[in-house]
Amino acid sequence: MIGVAILGATGSVGRSTLDVLERHPGEYRVVSLAARNDARRLAELCLRYRPDVAVLEKSEAAGELEARLREAGSATRVGTGAAAIVELARDRSAGVVMAAISGAAGLRSTLAAASAGKRLLLANKESAVMAGPLLVAAVRAGEATLVPIDSEHNAIFQCLPPGARIGERPAGVRRLLLTASGGPFLDWSAAAMAGASPEQACAHPRWSMGRKISVDSATLMNKGLELIEATVLFGMEPRDIAVIVHPQSLMHSLVEYLDGSMLAQLGSPDMRTPIAQGLAWPARIASGVEFLDLAKAGSLQFRSPDRARFPCLGLAEDAARAGGLACLWLNAADEVAVQAFLDKQLNFGDIPGVIERVMAQLPAGGLTDLDAVLDADAGARQCAAGVLSDFHAVGMRTPA
Ligand code: MG
Repeated sequence: MIGVAILGATGSVGRSTLDVLERHPGEYRVVSLAARNDARRLAELCLRYRPDVAVLEKSEAAGELEARLREAGSATRVGTGAAAIVELARDRSAGVVMAAISGAAGLRSTLAAASAGKRLLLANKESAVMAGPLLVAAVRAGEATLVPIDSEHNAIFQCLPPGARIGERPAGVRRLLLTASGGPFLDWSAAAMAGASPEQACAHPRWSMGRKISVDSATLMNKGLELIEATVLFGMEPRDIAVIVHPQSLMHSLVEYLDGSMLAQLGSPDMRTPIAQGLAWPARIASGVEFLDLAKAGSLQFRSPDRARFPCLGLAEDAARAGGLACLWLNAADEVAVQAFLDKQLNFGDIPGVIERVMAQLPAGGLTDLDAVLDADAGARQCAAGVLSDFHAVGMRTPA
């Protein structure tokens, strides 16, 4: 039996992971579940999957979880705090760690799982974006196996030559092609996009995801962050990674080889495929995903992204080229701007402008250790909050 720790259990990737594991009860055991603060949801998952330990980051929520579990007669132990989540990532009973806590909050536990030599299923793209060199170093030092779960990177992982190593440019590869659905505003005018509501931005046509990543898909910043993630995981230069819009979201990314071959991975847009691939690699197991009927799909379309309407893509490419702290600043600026948009404190059309102004204040420096990363992240957020208040002083534009 392979023990699995799921960090970020109540989110969409966490729940999809549990769905896949439930199909293979003889092979995998859920040993621990962690989440930020959703006690009700985590209690339900504990009663169903019976982990040894469940941790909520917020202590008040952990108290509620404890009460719910004791009342239901559950034997699951309850822990609390970020340090307890890091312990789950290192715990000996877990051979596999699903790192699915989104944002900077998932950084420490992801690095801990890498250092501890786990099979690390990486769904927390911020670890690669904010602390890429530290992540690759931790994977090497811990002799961990990293399998990317982000659907595009998982597709590339599946198409790489045998023997490819995380963080090293694979031999014989000319380019990586990241596919982008184009998000809900693919065919909207710039004027209509400027005043789009959070509900419209979160109505993704193909994937069902959390709100932050849904907004990032609508601005194409998600693809920009994925480009950065690909430079880190596959050791490629930003100029050797192309973004191609593919509205059907059936081809999840491609690897182009020097001989002219292009290898692609296709499948229904459902995170259970990359999750099952990562759990079982190099074997294959059933995921519960609907099989793709190509005749029914009919046609696959591709086009270049419109960089004028989606300036976040160019901002991310600039950060990828700049290196150092730039990707971390970009990520923090984006998180602050997107949260302000979701809180209806910022127009959709002003998200790139906020990020651009934060990037203009990027300090010099590199990433030495995790504390430096977290310090720089706090500095970037403070800078972004200042830029936001300038925007508010000027006033919100009325929606078009
Ligand atoms: Mg993705």
